[in-house]
Amino acid sequence: MADVVLHQLVKEYPGGVRAVDELDLAIADGEFFALLGPSGCGKTTLLRSIAGLETVTSGRIELGGRDVTRLAPGERDIAMVFQDYALFPHMSVRDNIAYPLRIRKMARGERHRRAEETARGLSLGGLLDRRPGQLSGGQQQRAALARAVACHPRLFLFDEPLSNLDARLRLEARTFLKRLQRDLGVTTVFVTHDQAEALALSDRMAVMDAGRIRQIGTPTEVFQRPASTFVAGFIGSTPMNLLDAVVDRDTLRIADAVLPVPDTARPHLRHGEKVVYAARPEYLTLTAEPPPGALGGVVAIVENLGVGALVTLEVGEVTVQATVPEGQEPPVGACRWVVADPARVLVYRAADGELVG
Ligand code: ATP
Repeated sequence: MADVVLHQLVKEYPGGVRAVDELDLAIADGEFFALLGPSGCGKTTLLRSIAGLETVTSGRIELGGRDVTRLAPGERDIAMVFQDYALFPHMSVRDNIAYPLRIRKMARGERHRRAEETARGLSLGGLLDRRPGQLSGGQQQRAALARAVACHPRLFLFDEPLSNLDARLRLEARTFLKRLQRDLGVTTVFVTHDQAEALALSDRMAVMDAGRIRQIGTPTEVFQRPASTFVAGFIGSTPMNLLDAVVDRDTLRIADAVLPVPDTARPHLRHGEKVVYAARPEYLTLTAEPPPGALGGVVAIVENLGVGALVTLEVGEVTVQATVPEGQEPPVGACRWVVADPARVLVYRAADGELVG
Protein backbone atom coordinates (compact mmCIF):
# COMPACT_ATOMS: atom_id res chain seq x y z
CA MET A 1 0.00 0.00 0.00
CA ALA A 2 1.07 3.58 -0.44
CA ASP A 3 0.15 7.15 0.02
CA VAL A 4 0.33 9.53 -2.94
CA VAL A 5 1.84 12.99 -2.72
CA LEU A 6 1.79 15.42 -5.63
CA HIS A 7 3.90 18.52 -5.26
CA GLN A 8 3.49 21.55 -7.53
CA LEU A 9 2.64 19.27 -10.44
CA VAL A 10 2.44 20.84 -13.90
CA LYS A 11 1.55 19.13 -17.17
CA GLU A 12 1.61 21.23 -20.29
CA TYR A 13 0.73 19.75 -23.65
CA PRO A 14 2.40 20.99 -26.84
CA GLY A 15 0.57 24.12 -27.92
CA GLY A 16 0.62 25.51 -24.38
CA VAL A 17 -2.45 23.80 -22.86
CA ARG A 18 -1.83 23.62 -19.10
CA ALA A 19 -3.94 20.57 -18.21
CA VAL A 20 -2.52 20.35 -14.67
CA ASP A 21 -1.51 23.63 -13.06
CA GLU A 22 0.82 23.69 -10.00
CA LEU A 23 -1.29 21.12 -8.25
CA ASP A 24 -0.61 19.96 -4.68
CA LEU A 25 -2.41 16.90 -3.35
CA ALA A 26 -1.89 14.31 -0.61
CA ILE A 27 -3.87 11.08 -0.68
CA ALA A 28 -3.61 8.88 2.40
CA ASP A 29 -2.65 5.22 2.42
CA GLY A 30 -5.77 3.10 1.85
CA GLU A 31 -7.95 6.04 0.90
CA PHE A 32 -10.62 5.91 -1.82
CA PHE A 33 -10.19 9.27 -3.49
CA ALA A 34 -12.41 10.65 -6.27
CA LEU A 35 -11.37 13.30 -8.78
CA LEU A 36 -14.35 15.18 -10.08
CA GLY A 37 -14.81 18.10 -12.42
CA PRO A 38 -16.23 19.30 -15.72
CA SER A 39 -15.02 17.97 -19.05
CA GLY A 40 -11.52 19.17 -19.88
CA CYS A 41 -10.57 20.17 -16.32
CA GLY A 42 -7.55 17.83 -16.34
CA LYS A 43 -8.75 14.73 -14.45
CA THR A 44 -7.52 12.16 -16.95
CA THR A 45 -4.23 13.98 -17.47
CA LEU A 46 -3.63 13.99 -13.71
CA LEU A 47 -4.38 10.27 -13.45
CA ARG A 48 -2.18 9.44 -16.45
CA SER A 49 0.61 11.52 -14.94
CA ILE A 50 0.42 9.54 -11.67
CA ALA A 51 0.51 6.33 -13.72
CA GLY A 52 3.56 7.52 -15.65
CA LEU A 53 1.72 7.51 -18.98
CA GLU A 54 2.35 11.25 -19.31
CA THR A 55 5.71 12.91 -18.71
CA VAL A 56 5.05 15.81 -16.39
CA THR A 57 6.43 19.24 -17.23
CA SER A 58 7.53 19.96 -13.65
CA GLY A 59 6.78 19.05 -10.05
CA ARG A 60 7.09 15.81 -8.12
CA ILE A 61 5.07 12.61 -7.67
CA GLU A 62 5.74 10.48 -4.58
CA LEU A 63 4.34 7.05 -3.99
CA GLY A 64 4.82 5.50 -0.57
CA GLY A 65 7.53 8.05 0.19
CA ARG A 66 9.46 7.26 -3.02
CA ASP A 67 9.94 9.82 -5.79
CA VAL A 68 8.52 8.12 -8.91
CA THR A 69 8.29 11.24 -11.11
CA ARG A 70 10.78 9.97 -13.67
CA LEU A 71 10.06 6.24 -13.37
CA ALA A 72 8.48 4.28 -16.24
CA PRO A 73 4.87 3.13 -15.70
CA GLY A 74 5.97 -0.49 -15.12
CA GLU A 75 8.28 0.57 -12.29
CA ARG A 76 5.58 2.33 -10.27
CA ASP A 77 3.60 -0.66 -9.00
CA ILE A 78 0.32 0.87 -10.11
CA ALA A 79 -2.69 -0.75 -11.79
CA MET A 80 -4.86 1.42 -13.99
CA VAL A 81 -8.32 0.54 -15.31
CA PHE A 82 -9.58 2.63 -18.20
CA GLN A 83 -13.06 3.48 -19.36
CA ASP A 84 -12.75 1.13 -22.34
CA TYR A 85 -11.22 -1.73 -20.26
CA ALA A 86 -8.40 -2.17 -22.81
CA LEU A 87 -8.53 -5.98 -22.67
CA PHE A 88 -6.54 -7.81 -25.33
CA PRO A 89 -9.19 -9.18 -27.74
CA HIS A 90 -7.10 -12.13 -28.99
CA MET A 91 -6.34 -13.45 -25.47
CA SER A 92 -8.54 -15.51 -23.17
CA VAL A 93 -9.78 -13.98 -19.93
CA ARG A 94 -7.18 -16.12 -18.09
CA ASP A 95 -4.32 -14.78 -20.22
CA ASN A 96 -5.62 -11.24 -19.98
CA ILE A 97 -5.64 -11.42 -16.18
CA ALA A 98 -2.23 -13.12 -16.08
CA TYR A 99 -0.62 -10.77 -18.60
CA PRO A 100 0.81 -8.23 -16.14
CA LEU A 101 2.16 -11.14 -14.08
CA ARG A 102 3.89 -12.53 -17.16
CA ILE A 103 5.46 -9.12 -17.74
CA ARG A 104 6.69 -9.31 -14.16
CA LYS A 105 8.23 -12.68 -15.01
CA MET A 106 6.11 -14.71 -12.61
CA ALA A 107 6.30 -18.45 -13.36
CA ARG A 108 3.51 -19.81 -15.59
CA GLY A 109 1.94 -22.14 -13.01
CA GLU A 110 1.92 -19.49 -10.34
CA ARG A 111 0.50 -16.75 -12.54
CA HIS A 112 -2.31 -19.02 -13.73
CA ARG A 113 -3.11 -19.93 -10.16
CA ARG A 114 -3.21 -16.24 -9.20
CA ALA A 115 -5.38 -15.42 -12.25
CA GLU A 116 -7.85 -18.17 -11.39
CA GLU A 117 -8.03 -17.21 -7.74
CA THR A 118 -8.68 -13.55 -8.64
CA ALA A 119 -11.26 -14.49 -11.28
CA ARG A 120 -13.15 -16.60 -8.75
CA GLY A 121 -13.25 -13.65 -6.35
CA LEU A 122 -14.89 -11.60 -9.08
CA SER A 123 -17.37 -14.31 -10.16
CA LEU A 124 -15.49 -14.89 -13.41
CA GLY A 125 -14.40 -18.44 -12.60
CA GLY A 126 -16.52 -20.02 -15.35
CA LEU A 127 -15.42 -17.55 -18.01
CA LEU A 128 -11.64 -17.97 -17.96
CA ASP A 129 -11.40 -19.58 -21.39
CA ARG A 130 -13.57 -17.04 -23.17
CA ARG A 131 -12.27 -14.08 -25.14
CA PRO A 132 -13.37 -10.52 -24.25
CA GLY A 133 -15.68 -10.42 -27.30
CA GLN A 134 -17.68 -13.28 -25.77
CA LEU A 135 -18.38 -11.41 -22.52
CA SER A 136 -21.07 -8.90 -21.54
CA GLY A 137 -20.04 -5.32 -20.75
CA GLY A 138 -20.20 -5.97 -17.02
CA GLN A 139 -18.13 -9.16 -17.32
CA GLN A 140 -15.53 -7.33 -19.42
CA GLN A 141 -15.35 -4.70 -16.75
CA ARG A 142 -14.82 -7.32 -14.06
CA ALA A 143 -12.13 -8.97 -16.19
CA ALA A 144 -10.34 -5.63 -16.49
CA LEU A 145 -10.60 -5.21 -12.72
CA ALA A 146 -9.32 -8.74 -12.16
CA ARG A 147 -6.29 -7.96 -14.31
CA ALA A 148 -5.66 -4.87 -12.18
CA VAL A 149 -6.21 -6.69 -8.88
CA ALA A 150 -4.17 -9.81 -9.72
CA CYS A 151 -0.81 -8.10 -9.59
CA HIS A 152 -1.49 -6.81 -6.07
CA PRO A 153 -0.57 -3.21 -6.90
CA ARG A 154 0.13 -0.53 -4.33
CA LEU A 155 -2.21 1.89 -6.06
CA PHE A 156 -5.34 1.59 -8.18
CA LEU A 157 -6.13 4.24 -10.74
CA PHE A 158 -9.61 4.12 -12.28
CA ASP A 159 -10.60 6.37 -15.17
CA GLU A 160 -14.39 6.32 -15.42
CA PRO A 161 -14.40 2.52 -15.23
CA LEU A 162 -18.19 2.36 -14.93
CA SER A 163 -19.20 4.77 -17.65
CA ASN A 164 -19.93 2.12 -20.27
CA LEU A 165 -22.40 0.25 -18.09
CA ASP A 166 -26.14 0.67 -18.04
CA ALA A 167 -27.77 2.20 -14.94
CA ARG A 168 -28.44 -1.03 -13.06
CA LEU A 169 -25.06 -2.68 -13.77
CA ARG A 170 -23.41 0.58 -12.89
CA LEU A 171 -24.97 0.60 -9.43
CA GLU A 172 -23.98 -3.04 -8.91
CA ALA A 173 -20.44 -2.37 -10.09
CA ARG A 174 -20.23 0.65 -7.82
CA THR A 175 -21.07 -1.43 -4.74
CA PHE A 176 -18.66 -4.09 -5.93
CA LEU A 177 -15.81 -1.62 -6.36
CA LYS A 178 -16.41 -0.16 -2.92
CA ARG A 179 -16.33 -3.62 -1.33
CA LEU A 180 -13.25 -4.65 -3.30
CA GLN A 181 -11.37 -1.56 -2.25
CA ARG A 182 -12.43 -1.99 1.38
CA ASP A 183 -11.39 -5.65 1.42
CA LEU A 184 -8.04 -5.05 -0.28
CA GLY A 185 -7.36 -1.71 1.41
CA VAL A 186 -5.50 -0.49 -1.68
CA THR A 187 -5.18 3.27 -2.13
CA THR A 188 -7.48 4.17 -5.01
CA VAL A 189 -7.81 7.26 -7.18
CA PHE A 190 -10.99 7.32 -9.16
CA VAL A 191 -11.84 9.77 -11.95
CA THR A 192 -15.46 10.44 -12.69
CA HIS A 193 -17.62 13.20 -14.08
CA ASP A 194 -20.56 11.69 -12.19
CA GLN A 195 -20.87 13.48 -8.86
CA ALA A 196 -23.33 10.92 -7.48
CA GLU A 197 -20.67 8.24 -8.02
CA ALA A 198 -18.03 10.35 -6.29
CA LEU A 199 -20.32 11.03 -3.34
CA ALA A 200 -21.25 7.36 -3.03
CA LEU A 201 -17.79 5.86 -3.32
CA SER A 202 -15.12 8.13 -1.99
CA ASP A 203 -13.63 8.72 1.43
CA ARG A 204 -12.56 12.12 0.15
CA MET A 205 -12.93 13.90 -3.13
CA ALA A 206 -11.42 16.81 -5.02
CA VAL A 207 -13.33 19.05 -7.38
CA MET A 208 -11.09 20.28 -10.20
CA ASP A 209 -11.38 23.19 -12.57
CA ALA A 210 -8.87 24.28 -15.21
CA GLY A 211 -6.06 22.07 -13.92
CA ARG A 212 -6.42 23.10 -10.28
CA ILE A 213 -8.23 21.77 -7.25
CA ARG A 214 -11.09 24.03 -6.19
CA GLN A 215 -12.13 22.05 -3.12
CA ILE A 216 -11.04 18.93 -1.32
CA GLY A 217 -12.95 17.18 1.47
CA THR A 218 -15.24 14.34 2.45
CA PRO A 219 -18.34 13.94 0.28
CA THR A 220 -20.43 15.35 3.14
CA GLU A 221 -18.21 18.42 3.53
CA VAL A 222 -18.23 19.16 -0.19
CA PHE A 223 -21.96 18.53 -0.50
CA GLN A 224 -22.98 20.49 2.61
CA ARG A 225 -20.52 23.37 2.35
CA PRO A 226 -19.28 23.90 -1.19
CA ALA A 227 -16.35 26.33 -0.96
CA SER A 228 -17.41 28.38 -3.98
CA THR A 229 -20.33 28.93 -6.32
CA PHE A 230 -18.41 26.88 -8.90
CA VAL A 231 -18.43 23.81 -6.64
CA ALA A 232 -21.97 24.56 -5.43
CA GLY A 233 -23.22 24.57 -8.99
CA PHE A 234 -21.40 21.36 -9.80
CA ILE A 235 -22.30 19.12 -6.84
CA GLY A 236 -25.78 17.75 -6.22
CA SER A 237 -28.11 15.66 -8.35
CA THR A 238 -30.40 18.69 -8.61
CA PRO A 239 -28.40 21.90 -8.94
CA MET A 240 -28.19 24.21 -5.95
CA ASN A 241 -30.27 27.40 -6.12
CA LEU A 242 -27.85 30.31 -6.52
CA LEU A 243 -29.79 33.56 -6.24
CA ASP A 244 -28.39 37.08 -6.58
CA ALA A 245 -29.03 39.03 -3.38
CA VAL A 246 -28.06 42.31 -1.69
CA VAL A 247 -27.25 42.68 2.01
CA ASP A 248 -29.71 45.06 3.67
CA ARG A 249 -28.57 45.36 7.32
CA ASP A 250 -29.56 42.05 8.95
CA THR A 251 -31.46 40.81 5.92
CA LEU A 252 -30.89 39.75 2.34
CA ARG A 253 -33.02 41.16 -0.45
CA ILE A 254 -33.88 38.96 -3.42
CA ALA A 255 -36.38 40.54 -5.78
CA ASP A 256 -39.16 41.75 -3.43
CA ALA A 257 -38.43 39.25 -0.69
CA VAL A 258 -36.57 40.01 2.55
CA LEU A 259 -34.82 36.96 4.03
CA PRO A 260 -32.80 36.55 7.22
CA VAL A 261 -29.02 36.41 6.94
CA PRO A 262 -27.67 33.08 8.20
CA ASP A 263 -25.85 33.46 11.53
CA THR A 264 -22.59 32.05 10.14
CA ALA A 265 -22.44 34.72 7.42
CA ARG A 266 -23.70 37.77 9.34
CA PRO A 267 -20.40 38.93 10.93
CA HIS A 268 -18.64 38.91 7.55
CA LEU A 269 -21.10 40.94 5.48
CA ARG A 270 -21.35 44.67 4.81
CA HIS A 271 -24.58 46.60 4.24
CA GLY A 272 -25.13 46.98 0.50
CA GLU A 273 -22.81 44.14 -0.49
CA LYS A 274 -23.79 41.91 -3.41
CA VAL A 275 -23.91 38.23 -2.52
CA VAL A 276 -25.28 34.91 -3.74
CA TYR A 277 -27.92 33.19 -1.63
CA ALA A 278 -27.53 29.43 -1.98
CA ALA A 279 -29.86 26.64 -0.91
CA ARG A 280 -30.30 23.10 -2.16
CA PRO A 281 -33.76 22.23 -3.52
CA GLU A 282 -33.88 19.47 -0.89
CA TYR A 283 -33.67 22.04 1.93
CA LEU A 284 -36.48 24.26 0.69
CA THR A 285 -40.16 23.74 1.46
CA LEU A 286 -43.09 25.22 -0.39
CA THR A 287 -46.14 26.63 1.39
CA ALA A 288 -49.48 27.78 0.05
CA GLU A 289 -49.76 30.60 2.66
CA PRO A 290 -47.21 33.42 2.55
CA PRO A 291 -44.90 33.61 5.59
CA PRO A 292 -43.58 37.17 6.20
CA GLY A 293 -40.86 38.26 3.79
CA ALA A 294 -40.75 34.95 1.91
CA LEU A 295 -40.03 34.47 -1.78
CA GLY A 296 -43.27 33.78 -3.61
CA GLY A 297 -43.87 32.76 -7.21
CA VAL A 298 -45.76 30.72 -9.72
CA VAL A 299 -45.23 26.99 -10.26
CA ALA A 300 -43.86 26.66 -13.80
CA ILE A 301 -42.70 23.02 -14.00
CA VAL A 302 -43.20 19.89 -11.88
CA GLU A 303 -40.75 17.05 -12.62
CA ASN A 304 -41.40 13.60 -11.24
CA LEU A 305 -38.34 12.27 -9.37
CA GLY A 306 -39.79 8.82 -8.77
CA VAL A 307 -40.16 9.55 -5.07
CA GLY A 308 -41.41 13.15 -4.85
CA ALA A 309 -40.95 15.88 -7.42
CA LEU A 310 -38.74 18.81 -8.36
CA VAL A 311 -40.79 22.00 -8.59
CA THR A 312 -39.58 25.02 -10.57
CA LEU A 313 -40.99 28.27 -9.29
CA GLU A 314 -40.80 31.52 -11.24
CA VAL A 315 -40.34 34.49 -8.93
CA GLY A 316 -40.38 37.40 -11.40
CA GLU A 317 -37.06 37.09 -13.23
CA VAL A 318 -35.70 34.61 -10.70
CA THR A 319 -36.10 30.83 -10.87
CA VAL A 320 -36.12 28.72 -7.70
CA GLN A 321 -36.24 24.94 -7.47
CA ALA A 322 -37.51 22.93 -4.51
CA THR A 323 -38.16 19.24 -4.01
CA VAL A 324 -41.51 18.20 -2.54
CA PRO A 325 -42.48 14.85 -1.00
CA GLU A 326 -44.64 12.40 -2.87
CA GLY A 327 -48.31 13.43 -2.88
CA GLN A 328 -47.53 17.12 -2.25
CA GLU A 329 -46.87 18.19 -5.83
CA PRO A 330 -48.53 21.57 -6.49
CA PRO A 331 -50.40 22.12 -9.75
CA VAL A 332 -48.66 24.11 -12.50
CA GLY A 333 -49.79 27.73 -12.32
CA ALA A 334 -50.37 27.69 -8.53
CA CYS A 335 -48.79 30.31 -6.24
CA ARG A 336 -46.31 29.01 -3.69
CA TRP A 337 -43.89 30.50 -1.14
CA VAL A 338 -40.40 29.25 -0.40
CA VAL A 339 -39.32 28.54 3.17
CA ALA A 340 -35.65 27.76 3.73
CA ASP A 341 -34.08 25.96 6.67
CA PRO A 342 -31.77 28.81 7.87
CA ALA A 343 -29.14 26.32 9.04
CA ARG A 344 -28.88 25.02 5.46
CA VAL A 345 -28.55 28.33 3.66
CA LEU A 346 -25.10 29.45 2.48
CA VAL A 347 -23.96 32.86 1.35
CA TYR A 348 -21.24 33.47 -1.24
CA ARG A 349 -19.56 36.72 -2.16
CA ALA A 350 -20.76 37.82 -5.59
CA ALA A 351 -17.38 39.37 -6.42
CA ASP A 352 -15.32 36.16 -6.33
CA GLY A 353 -17.86 33.38 -5.68
CA GLU A 354 -16.13 32.36 -2.41
CA LEU A 355 -18.11 31.07 0.59
CA VAL A 356 -18.83 33.64 3.32
CA GLY A 357 -20.67 31.34 5.70
P1 ATP B 1 -13.06 14.61 -19.72
O1 ATP B 1 -13.95 14.57 -18.51
O2 ATP B 1 -13.74 15.26 -20.90
O3 ATP B 1 -12.40 13.32 -20.04
P2 ATP B 1 -10.69 15.61 -18.34
O4 ATP B 1 -11.04 16.41 -17.14
O5 ATP B 1 -10.26 14.21 -18.11
O6 ATP B 1 -11.89 15.68 -19.39
P3 ATP B 1 -8.23 15.94 -19.79
O7 ATP B 1 -8.52 14.87 -20.78
O8 ATP B 1 -7.20 15.68 -18.77
O9 ATP B 1 -9.57 16.44 -19.10
O10 ATP B 1 -7.82 17.25 -20.62
C1 ATP B 1 -7.38 18.45 -19.97
C2 ATP B 1 -7.03 19.50 -21.01
O11 ATP B 1 -5.89 19.09 -21.75
C3 ATP B 1 -8.12 19.75 -22.05
O12 ATP B 1 -8.13 21.12 -22.36
C4 ATP B 1 -7.67 18.92 -23.23
O13 ATP B 1 -8.16 19.47 -24.44
C5 ATP B 1 -6.18 19.00 -23.15
N1 ATP B 1 -5.51 17.80 -23.68
C6 ATP B 1 -5.72 16.52 -23.31
N2 ATP B 1 -4.90 15.67 -23.98
C7 ATP B 1 -4.17 16.44 -24.82
C8 ATP B 1 -3.14 16.18 -25.79
N3 ATP B 1 -2.68 14.93 -25.99
N4 ATP B 1 -2.62 17.22 -26.46
C9 ATP B 1 -3.04 18.49 -26.22
N5 ATP B 1 -4.01 18.82 -25.34
C10 ATP B 1 -4.55 17.82 -24.63
